[in-house]
Amino acid sequence: MQESWSSHLKTDEYEIEVNSIISLTTRLIQFETTTKENINLAVDYCSEWLRQRGIETTFINNDGYKSLIAEIGEKGPIIIFNGHLDVVPAEADQFFPFVDDGKIYGRGSFDMLGAVSVMMHAFVELSKKTLPARVILSLVPDEETGGEKGTGYLVENGILGDMVICGETTNLDIAVQAKGILQISLEFLGTASHGSRPWLGENAILKAFHAYKEIERLDLFKEKSQFFDRPSINLARIHGGGAINRVPDRCSLILDIRYLPDQNPEDILDQIRGITDAELKIISRGDPVKTNPLNEFVIRLKDTAENVLGSDVRIFGQDGSADTRFYATRGIPAVEFGPRGANHHGKGEYVFINSLLDFKSILIDYVMSYSKKS
Ligand SMILES: [Zn+2]
Repeated sequence: MQESWSSHLKTDEYEIEVNSIISLTTRLIQFETTTKENINLAVDYCSEWLRQRGIETTFINNDGYKSLIAEIGEKGPIIIFNGHLDVVPAEADQFFPFVDDGKIYGRGSFDMLGAVSVMMHAFVELSKKTLPARVILSLVPDEETGGEKGTGYLVENGILGDMVICGETTNLDIAVQAKGILQISLEFLGTASHGSRPWLGENAILKAFHAYKEIERLDLFKEKSQFFDRPSINLARIHGGGAINRVPDRCSLILDIRYLPDQNPEDILDQIRGITDAELKIISRGDPVKTNPLNEFVIRLKDTAENVLGSDVRIFGQDGSADTRFYATRGIPAVEFGPRGANHHGKGEYVFINSLLDFKSILIDYVMSYSKKS
């Protein structure tokens, strides 16, 4: 009798928890956090939600963008739960979330408001325990648009830890590395002439075209590493040309290069300068992430996750970049680790509700695992 009563209670508690995670996720999706104003409203909402559950929060303001910080625990390693509240733009209907067939649909459900909701729930639950570690919850803006206003600024201001989990879209595998980013423009100059006598001019578009083909053939783009099959180069933009009967005297290319964690960006720039005298400007750059997969924090997270899931957890490298890179530049082991889902940045984005619950158990068990000796 007693047993069935308590298992029934357990089911009820479970239901309440599931519903709470779903309702916070769907509420956050509705903020349509694609603008500074809306992101700040979502930050305020999260702060209020946490405060109602006994958590003190602090805002950090940078250029009008708010980040939220909360901290619990008094001793042991510092573990950071990092979640971004911003999402990429989408059609209006994606901001009306709904639940169907075990999934939450909506922009940001997978990337990464579902994970944020879980991090907040896990944080509150952890706050009621005697902790063997300190936990910092960082909810940030601007991950999708560069990260400098959120995580970049927090790191600059010394909000650091011993281990960072960014709740990205990894399907409960662990991404320990990410490629570096080098986005450059190349401005080619030629000589204009009449289109009927092209031999009198020098066609800047053709110069750009030939240079691009040579850049693409550089040996560095054929290298591989433990976690990556290749670096990449994307010819993102070309500007050049005007009147049809004129040889163009200007052409600019914009290249988005993603290099392997162990490649040297200065060396890449030198090799490109060796191919062309076009004026080279750096538009944006981002350090790679090269967290050691054998790092003790990473192994502990992997063991915890495998224990909760009862299956193998893969350690891998991400082609794209995330806020992990800001911690990586300080030598802090940072990983991307988050729930299962699909279609982030696309149509029909969703996250599996079961995986949110697994994610929560893993976060809690991971923090609590520091009470045991490794
Ligand atoms: Zn993300």
